[in-house]
Amino acid sequence: MRLCRDRGAADWVRGERKACIVTHDLWGMSGLRGPITNGMLTSSDTHPVTVEQNHLLASLPRDEYARVLLDLEPVCLRTKHIVAHPDEPIRHVYFLRDAVVSLLVAMEDGSTIEVASVGSEGLIGLGAFLGEGTETGPMVVQIPGRAARMTTTAFHEAVWRSARLQLLLQRYTLAFINQLARTAGCNRVHSVRQRCARLLLMIDDRLGRKTVPLTHESLAILLGVRRASVTEAALAFHRLGLIEYQRGNICIMDRDGLEAVACEDYRLSRQGYDRIYR
Ligand SMILES: [Zn+2]
Repeated sequence: MRLCRDRGAADWVRGERKACIVTHDLWGMSGLRGPITNGMLTSSDTHPVTVEQNHLLASLPRDEYARVLLDLEPVCLRTKHIVAHPDEPIRHVYFLRDAVVSLLVAMEDGSTIEVASVGSEGLIGLGAFLGEGTETGPMVVQIPGRAARMTTTAFHEAVWRSARLQLLLQRYTLAFINQLARTAGCNRVHSVRQRCARLLLMIDDRLGRKTVPLTHESLAILLGVRRASVTEAALAFHRLGLIEYQRGNICIMDRDGLEAVACEDYRLSRQGYDRIYR
Protein backbone atom coordinates (compact mmCIF):
# COMPACT_ATOMS: atom_id res chain seq x y z
CA MET A 1 0.00 0.00 0.00
CA ARG A 2 1.25 3.47 -0.74
CA LEU A 3 -0.11 6.94 -0.61
CA CYS A 4 -0.89 8.77 -3.80
CA ARG A 5 -2.37 12.07 -4.85
CA ASP A 6 -5.81 12.66 -3.39
CA ARG A 7 -8.16 13.21 -6.29
CA GLY A 8 -10.09 16.37 -5.52
CA ALA A 9 -10.77 15.43 -1.93
CA ALA A 10 -8.50 18.05 -0.39
CA ASP A 11 -11.35 19.83 1.34
CA TRP A 12 -13.55 16.79 1.49
CA VAL A 13 -14.50 16.12 5.04
CA ARG A 14 -13.42 18.38 7.84
CA GLY A 15 -11.70 16.44 10.58
CA GLU A 16 -10.85 13.44 8.44
CA ARG A 17 -7.31 12.68 7.43
CA LYS A 18 -6.74 12.43 3.73
CA ALA A 19 -5.17 9.49 2.02
CA CYS A 20 -5.38 7.61 -1.20
CA ILE A 21 -4.93 3.90 -1.22
CA VAL A 22 -3.49 1.58 -3.78
CA THR A 23 -3.80 -2.10 -3.01
CA HIS A 24 -2.63 -5.28 -4.67
CA ASP A 25 -3.33 -5.74 -8.35
CA LEU A 26 -5.60 -8.66 -9.19
CA TRP A 27 -6.60 -8.08 -12.78
CA GLY A 28 -3.11 -7.02 -13.71
CA MET A 29 -2.88 -10.61 -14.57
CA SER A 30 -5.84 -9.99 -16.65
CA GLY A 31 -25.04 11.53 11.37
CA LEU A 32 -25.54 14.19 10.15
CA ARG A 33 -28.54 13.34 8.13
CA GLY A 34 -28.98 15.25 4.96
CA PRO A 35 -29.44 15.00 1.25
CA ILE A 36 -27.08 12.69 -0.54
CA THR A 37 -25.56 14.50 -3.49
CA ASN A 38 -21.88 14.61 -4.20
CA GLY A 39 -20.12 13.27 -1.13
CA MET A 40 -19.15 16.69 0.17
CA LEU A 41 -19.67 17.51 3.81
CA THR A 42 -20.05 21.08 4.89
CA SER A 43 -21.32 22.79 7.99
CA SER A 44 -23.04 26.01 8.93
CA ASP A 45 -23.16 27.87 12.22
CA THR A 46 -26.61 26.75 13.26
CA HIS A 47 -27.54 23.65 11.31
CA PRO A 48 -24.70 21.42 10.23
CA VAL A 49 -25.36 20.14 6.77
CA THR A 50 -24.02 16.79 5.82
CA VAL A 51 -23.95 15.30 2.44
CA GLU A 52 -22.67 11.89 3.35
CA GLN A 53 -22.83 9.64 0.34
CA ASN A 54 -22.50 6.33 2.16
CA HIS A 55 -25.99 5.29 3.17
CA LEU A 56 -24.93 3.43 6.33
CA LEU A 57 -23.10 6.48 7.65
CA ALA A 58 -25.84 8.85 6.51
CA SER A 59 -28.41 6.80 8.47
CA LEU A 60 -26.63 7.27 11.80
CA PRO A 61 -27.97 9.79 14.30
CA ARG A 62 -26.12 13.09 14.20
CA ASP A 63 -24.08 12.58 17.36
CA GLU A 64 -23.10 9.04 16.46
CA TYR A 65 -22.06 10.07 12.98
CA ALA A 66 -19.94 12.87 14.38
CA ARG A 67 -18.21 10.37 16.66
CA VAL A 68 -17.62 7.88 13.85
CA LEU A 69 -16.15 10.63 11.66
CA LEU A 70 -13.26 11.00 14.08
CA ASP A 71 -12.09 7.49 13.24
CA LEU A 72 -12.67 7.69 9.49
CA GLU A 73 -9.95 8.28 6.94
CA PRO A 74 -10.99 9.29 3.40
CA VAL A 75 -9.38 7.24 0.70
CA CYS A 76 -9.68 6.92 -3.04
CA LEU A 77 -9.75 3.47 -4.51
CA ARG A 78 -8.25 2.65 -7.87
CA THR A 79 -9.83 0.25 -10.29
CA LYS A 80 -8.83 -3.41 -10.33
CA HIS A 81 -7.13 -3.34 -6.97
CA ILE A 82 -7.92 -5.66 -4.11
CA VAL A 83 -9.39 -3.97 -1.04
CA ALA A 84 -9.66 -7.18 0.96
CA HIS A 85 -8.16 -10.60 0.37
CA PRO A 86 -9.39 -13.90 1.84
CA ASP A 87 -5.84 -14.88 2.84
CA GLU A 88 -5.19 -11.67 4.76
CA PRO A 89 -6.71 -10.36 8.00
CA ILE A 90 -9.19 -7.50 7.71
CA ARG A 91 -7.29 -4.44 8.91
CA HIS A 92 -9.72 -1.79 7.73
CA VAL A 93 -13.43 -1.50 7.10
CA TYR A 94 -14.39 0.61 4.08
CA PHE A 95 -17.57 2.64 3.79
CA LEU A 96 -17.91 3.20 0.06
CA ARG A 97 -19.00 6.59 -1.22
CA ASP A 98 -18.85 6.52 -5.01
CA ALA A 99 -16.59 3.52 -5.60
CA VAL A 100 -18.01 0.12 -6.53
CA VAL A 101 -16.30 -3.06 -5.36
CA SER A 102 -16.95 -6.65 -6.45
CA LEU A 103 -16.78 -9.78 -4.33
CA LEU A 104 -15.25 -12.34 -6.66
CA VAL A 105 -14.99 -16.08 -6.51
CA ALA A 106 -11.76 -17.39 -8.01
CA MET A 107 -11.70 -20.86 -9.52
CA GLU A 108 -8.73 -23.21 -9.61
CA ASP A 109 -8.47 -22.76 -13.38
CA GLY A 110 -7.84 -19.05 -12.88
CA SER A 111 -11.29 -17.85 -13.92
CA THR A 112 -13.28 -15.49 -11.73
CA ILE A 113 -16.90 -14.49 -11.40
CA GLU A 114 -18.62 -11.75 -9.45
CA VAL A 115 -21.01 -12.97 -6.77
CA ALA A 116 -21.85 -9.59 -5.22
CA SER A 117 -21.14 -5.92 -5.68
CA VAL A 118 -20.92 -3.23 -3.03
CA GLY A 119 -21.32 0.51 -3.41
CA SER A 120 -22.57 3.46 -1.42
CA GLU A 121 -25.27 1.28 0.14
CA GLY A 122 -22.75 -0.74 2.11
CA LEU A 123 -19.27 -1.46 3.33
CA ILE A 124 -16.27 -3.70 2.78
CA GLY A 125 -15.34 -5.65 5.88
CA LEU A 126 -18.55 -7.41 6.77
CA GLY A 127 -16.43 -10.29 8.06
CA ALA A 128 -15.18 -8.00 10.82
CA PHE A 129 -18.75 -7.31 11.91
CA LEU A 130 -19.55 -11.03 11.89
CA GLY A 131 -16.56 -11.88 14.05
CA GLU A 132 -14.50 -13.31 11.22
CA GLY A 133 -11.01 -12.05 10.54
CA THR A 134 -11.07 -12.40 6.76
CA GLU A 135 -13.37 -11.95 3.79
CA THR A 136 -14.79 -14.92 1.89
CA GLY A 137 -13.21 -13.85 -1.41
CA PRO A 138 -11.19 -11.08 -2.98
CA MET A 139 -12.93 -7.71 -2.92
CA VAL A 140 -11.81 -5.93 -6.07
CA VAL A 141 -12.45 -2.32 -7.06
CA GLN A 142 -14.66 -2.37 -10.11
CA ILE A 143 -15.38 1.36 -10.42
CA PRO A 144 -12.78 3.73 -8.93
CA GLY A 145 -13.93 6.29 -6.45
CA ARG A 146 -14.00 7.48 -2.89
CA ALA A 147 -14.50 5.68 0.39
CA ALA A 148 -13.87 6.24 4.07
CA ARG A 149 -12.10 3.62 6.10
CA MET A 150 -11.47 2.90 9.75
CA THR A 151 -9.37 0.31 11.50
CA THR A 152 -11.14 -2.86 12.56
CA THR A 153 -10.40 -1.96 16.18
CA ALA A 154 -12.15 1.40 15.80
CA PHE A 155 -14.96 -0.29 13.88
CA HIS A 156 -15.57 -2.80 16.67
CA GLU A 157 -15.65 0.03 19.19
CA ALA A 158 -18.11 1.98 17.02
CA VAL A 159 -20.40 -1.05 16.72
CA TRP A 160 -20.20 -1.66 20.46
CA ARG A 161 -21.14 1.98 21.15
CA SER A 162 -24.00 2.30 18.65
CA ALA A 163 -27.15 0.18 18.70
CA ARG A 164 -28.25 1.98 15.54
CA LEU A 165 -25.07 0.97 13.70
CA GLN A 166 -25.53 -2.62 14.89
CA LEU A 167 -29.07 -2.68 13.53
CA LEU A 168 -28.04 -1.17 10.21
CA LEU A 169 -25.25 -3.70 9.82
CA GLN A 170 -27.56 -6.60 10.71
CA ARG A 171 -30.00 -5.43 8.05
CA TYR A 172 -27.16 -4.92 5.61
CA THR A 173 -25.89 -8.44 6.27
CA LEU A 174 -29.31 -9.86 5.44
CA ALA A 175 -29.52 -7.81 2.23
CA PHE A 176 -26.02 -8.92 1.26
CA ILE A 177 -26.93 -12.57 1.80
CA ASN A 178 -30.03 -11.97 -0.30
CA GLN A 179 -27.85 -10.56 -3.09
CA LEU A 180 -25.60 -13.64 -2.92
CA ALA A 181 -28.62 -15.94 -3.12
CA ARG A 182 -30.13 -14.04 -6.05
CA THR A 183 -26.78 -14.09 -7.86
CA ALA A 184 -26.39 -17.84 -7.34
CA GLY A 185 -29.80 -18.49 -8.87
CA CYS A 186 -29.25 -15.90 -11.59
CA ASN A 187 -25.95 -17.40 -12.70
CA ARG A 188 -27.58 -20.81 -12.99
CA VAL A 189 -30.85 -19.92 -14.68
CA HIS A 190 -30.75 -16.64 -16.57
CA SER A 191 -29.26 -15.66 -19.91
CA VAL A 192 -26.14 -13.58 -20.43
CA ARG A 193 -28.35 -10.82 -21.81
CA GLN A 194 -30.49 -10.77 -18.64
CA ARG A 195 -27.47 -10.93 -16.37
CA CYS A 196 -25.66 -8.21 -18.30
CA ALA A 197 -28.69 -5.91 -18.02
CA ARG A 198 -28.89 -6.65 -14.30
CA LEU A 199 -25.21 -5.86 -13.79
CA LEU A 200 -25.43 -2.54 -15.66
CA LEU A 201 -28.46 -1.52 -13.58
CA MET A 202 -26.77 -2.48 -10.31
CA ILE A 203 -23.73 -0.40 -11.17
CA ASP A 204 -25.95 2.48 -12.26
CA ASP A 205 -27.76 2.34 -8.91
CA ARG A 206 -24.49 2.57 -7.04
CA LEU A 207 -22.98 5.31 -9.19
CA GLY A 208 -26.11 7.43 -9.41
CA ARG A 209 -25.38 8.35 -12.99
CA LYS A 210 -26.15 6.92 -16.38
CA THR A 211 -22.59 6.24 -17.47
CA VAL A 212 -20.97 2.92 -16.63
CA PRO A 213 -17.19 3.03 -17.09
CA LEU A 214 -16.74 -0.65 -17.90
CA THR A 215 -15.45 -2.38 -21.00
CA HIS A 216 -16.86 -5.55 -22.50
CA GLU A 217 -13.77 -7.32 -21.20
CA SER A 218 -14.48 -6.22 -17.62
CA LEU A 219 -18.15 -7.14 -17.92
CA ALA A 220 -17.18 -10.58 -19.22
CA ILE A 221 -14.89 -11.16 -16.23
CA LEU A 222 -17.59 -10.08 -13.79
CA LEU A 223 -20.21 -12.27 -15.45
CA GLY A 224 -17.84 -15.20 -15.88
CA VAL A 225 -18.60 -15.50 -19.60
CA ARG A 226 -16.78 -15.04 -22.89
CA ARG A 227 -16.23 -11.49 -24.10
CA ALA A 228 -18.04 -12.36 -27.34
CA SER A 229 -21.18 -13.14 -25.33
CA VAL A 230 -21.09 -9.72 -23.69
CA THR A 231 -20.49 -8.01 -27.03
CA GLU A 232 -23.48 -9.83 -28.47
CA ALA A 233 -25.69 -8.72 -25.57
CA ALA A 234 -24.40 -5.14 -25.74
CA LEU A 235 -25.06 -4.94 -29.49
CA ALA A 236 -28.62 -6.11 -28.89
CA PHE A 237 -29.08 -3.43 -26.20
CA HIS A 238 -27.68 -0.82 -28.58
CA ARG A 239 -30.01 -1.85 -31.38
CA LEU A 240 -32.94 -1.53 -28.97
CA GLY A 241 -31.82 1.97 -27.99
CA LEU A 242 -31.15 0.92 -24.38
CA ILE A 243 -27.47 1.92 -24.30
CA GLU A 244 -24.99 4.07 -26.21
CA TYR A 245 -21.22 4.27 -26.14
CA GLN A 246 -19.39 7.47 -25.27
CA ARG A 247 -15.60 7.49 -25.09
CA GLY A 248 -15.45 3.85 -24.12
CA ASN A 249 -18.16 4.15 -21.48
CA ILE A 250 -21.57 2.52 -21.61
CA CYS A 251 -24.37 5.07 -21.29
CA ILE A 252 -27.80 3.90 -20.25
CA MET A 253 -30.32 5.65 -22.51
CA ASP A 254 -33.50 3.77 -21.60
CA ARG A 255 -33.44 2.55 -18.03
CA ASP A 256 -37.01 1.25 -18.07
CA GLY A 257 -36.21 -0.72 -21.19
CA LEU A 258 -33.09 -2.17 -19.59
CA GLU A 259 -35.10 -3.14 -16.50
CA ALA A 260 -37.56 -4.92 -18.77
CA VAL A 261 -34.71 -6.98 -20.20
CA ALA A 262 -33.12 -7.73 -16.82
CA CYS A 263 -34.30 -10.67 -14.78
CA GLU A 264 -36.21 -10.44 -11.52
CA ASP A 265 -32.97 -10.85 -9.57
CA TYR A 266 -32.17 -7.18 -10.14
CA ARG A 267 -35.45 -6.02 -8.64
CA LEU A 268 -35.43 -8.49 -5.75
CA SER A 269 -31.81 -7.77 -4.86
CA ARG A 270 -32.43 -4.03 -4.88
CA GLN A 271 -35.52 -4.40 -2.70
CA GLY A 272 -33.37 -6.13 -0.09
CA TYR A 273 -31.15 -3.06 0.18
CA ASP A 274 -34.04 -0.61 0.03
CA ARG A 275 -35.47 -2.26 3.16
CA ILE A 276 -32.39 -1.30 5.17
CA TYR A 277 -33.01 2.40 4.79
CA ARG A 278 -36.79 2.65 4.69
ZN1 LIG B 1 -31.20 -13.33 -12.87
